[in-house]
Amino acid sequence: MPSPDAADSPSLFAAPVRVVDVLLPVAVGSAYSYRVPEGMEVAVGDIVVVPLATRNMLGCVWPRAQNARAVDPGKLKTIQRRYDVAPLRPEMIAFIEWIAEYTVTPPGMVLRLALRHDESAGIARERTGVRLTDRRPERATPARRRVIEALADGFVRAKADAAREAGVSPSVVDGLVDDGVLETVVLPPEPAAEAPDPDHSTPELLPAQAEVAARLVEAVEARAFQPFLIDGVTGSGKTEAYFEAVAQAIRQGRQTLILMPEIALTQAFLDRFARRFGVRPAEWHSAVSTKRRGRIFRGVASGEVSVVAGARSALFLPFRELGLVIVDEEHDGAYKQEDGVHYHARDMAVVRARLEGAAIALVSATPSLETEVNARRGRYRRLHLPERFAGTKVPRLEPIDLRREGPPRGQWIAPRLAQEVERTIEAGGQALLFLNRRGYAPLTLCRACGHRIKCPSCSSWLVEHRFRRRLECHQCGYATPVPEACPNCHEPHSLIPCGPGVERLHEEVAKLMPTARLQVLSSDLAGGVERLRAELKAIEEGEVDVIVGTQLVAKGHNFPGLALVGVIDADVGLGHGDPRAAERTFQLLHQVAGRAGRHNVEGRAFLQTYMPEHPVMQALVEGDRDAFYDREIAIREEAHLPPFARFCALIVSGTDPHATQAHARALAACSPMTPAVRVLGPAEAPLALVRGRHRYRLLARSERGFDLSSYVRAWMAGAPRASGSLRVEIDIDPQSF
Ligand code: ADP
Ligand code: ZN
Repeated sequence: MPSPDAADSPSLFAAPVRVVDVLLPVAVGSAYSYRVPEGMEVAVGDIVVVPLATRNMLGCVWPRAQNARAVDPGKLKTIQRRYDVAPLRPEMIAFIEWIAEYTVTPPGMVLRLALRHDESAGIARERTGVRLTDRRPERATPARRRVIEALADGFVRAKADAAREAGVSPSVVDGLVDDGVLETVVLPPEPAAEAPDPDHSTPELLPAQAEVAARLVEAVEARAFQPFLIDGVTGSGKTEAYFEAVAQAIRQGRQTLILMPEIALTQAFLDRFARRFGVRPAEWHSAVSTKRRGRIFRGVASGEVSVVAGARSALFLPFRELGLVIVDEEHDGAYKQEDGVHYHARDMAVVRARLEGAAIALVSATPSLETEVNARRGRYRRLHLPERFAGTKVPRLEPIDLRREGPPRGQWIAPRLAQEVERTIEAGGQALLFLNRRGYAPLTLCRACGHRIKCPSCSSWLVEHRFRRRLECHQCGYATPVPEACPNCHEPHSLIPCGPGVERLHEEVAKLMPTARLQVLSSDLAGGVERLRAELKAIEEGEVDVIVGTQLVAKGHNFPGLALVGVIDADVGLGHGDPRAAERTFQLLHQVAGRAGRHNVEGRAFLQTYMPEHPVMQALVEGDRDAFYDREIAIREEAHLPPFARFCALIVSGTDPHATQAHARALAACSPMTPAVRVLGPAEAPLALVRGRHRYRLLARSERGFDLSSYVRAWMAGAPRASGSLRVEIDIDPQSF
């Protein structure tokens, strides 16, 4: 029997209190329960505004966990409002959960990647305006009266416009809203993008291109998951071929995601897209304004935006109907996110395509070893474009043996290379000297005592930047003026730069070729992306003779006049004991060399090396890519390395080296025993000290088919908590092992 006063309880008469789970973009293990206020309809996937502690934030109504405990609705906070944006679809929710499982990360952190682009104001800031209500104040200040007069026509205006028209500050308008004289209304969103036209300008494809295009178009028509590798040398027309599949998706009213490693720099790509489809694709990366991203987010969710070209974060956009995914330059290391949620965008793109039932094409001239193995095993269907579109040959690579024909001490360009550069510019061509080292010199050394100047909070040398007259840490950004005397022995004028960076190379070229027009291209270029775009354009237009550049120039640019590439130090990156070094060096140098001779110019490339007999150099010089992959694949298989085994790295970091090491050891000691997994370490991480944090690494290795994520999750559940400054990061499929 209910007690008599229970009859007074409103809950007996009102509709039952509804409770839903809301996943918030924070690092908690599960969704929180909230009350749904009366009169509000919410469903799984809806984006809502909810209170958490002292603030409001966006969250997503989440499927209720099967083992969810019953909660007392009386103790719950209430959803504030539903956010006016399309709900996340079940496929997107499945994707978020899949990544959380796989990367051993709280799902809220993955949701954050999907909602992150405008954290302060919530996703896709709603556009609001104000208009008059029926209420009039009895008395009003002159400022308020002017606002009321300005809005007397009854039309809606943006708040700022209303204030401007009335010549008052926006706070006056706010005051009128507070008093109910004005009301806020949500305006329809501005259009996010113009629609690309699939038939705007269709090129005549070469037979090999047409074949590739046909296979992709079929796959898009099939509306099912199907993974491809488009494997073709640089300039073979891969882009034009996959554009046909994009066109087909547009015709079907389905969306396309094109992932690129360095979107901020690929103006040339956007222009090309516009030539083919009449308009540029929606661009998505961190340099796009918050407002614009908000619009694109909405447009992607509503289906209005049909093609997005973006950086890895575009993977988390809420597509309404994804039909095609392209991962351009799929081998690029920039696809791996190394902080927060550690994910590899290429691999997750395949997962997303599978969940969405979309076709996906990974595109590369030098596929990653993982992708190559997948293609060889038939998991990905290989589409081959063996020849350059323009008919020019892929440049020949010629080794320059630095042991026999190196430059004099203190110089970096071998006489033979210098001659070839001069000859090239005399003939009206451009030359690129490639050195993957920013700054003037990678190391500063004291001639008197041998002291090397290190970063005070990282385990790295300080790099001299002569243009900026200072020493900089490339890990943490620490910078200090170049000292007059050695900080160790105080000997004046004893510090000498060791080794070359691009600035030093520039100095050398200027001495060797005083009349040549030079341009250094590295991420240090003052003026940021805008300036870089301008310089790239100047190069394209032939206003530069010699480009001295870091890997910034290796990616995707099209320099029509580039006839010669000289790699100053082909050995950088080899021989650090990293099993992936050979693959990376091969990809990078192949890519850089491939910049030469794109159009009607036959290109040449030179590799300066101390180890011309190294298999990587041999493969590059012989132009025998398959031999390189055969050998690397055999080595990986033999040594039980990915993709023939799986790794998960645990990075333990903290400010105190002993406590950090002790915690790493404690973690190692409590790893669950199973014959399927071997835990290696702890050892100092490849970067042992970063920003004052000491880093130790544990590596768990398993067979290919083993569920390493579940193993690590179970391990962490039973592990001692990291307290104080200690932190443990989980990096599944780490880039280095
Ligand atoms: P990749 O993506 O393999 O590096 P691209 O698609 O960029 O190759 O093609 C290289 C060059 O050839 C580009 O300038 C492109 O515009 C041109 N090209 C490729 N295919 C065609 C075609 N069918 N008709 C006209 N130009 C083409
Ligand atoms: Zn540092």
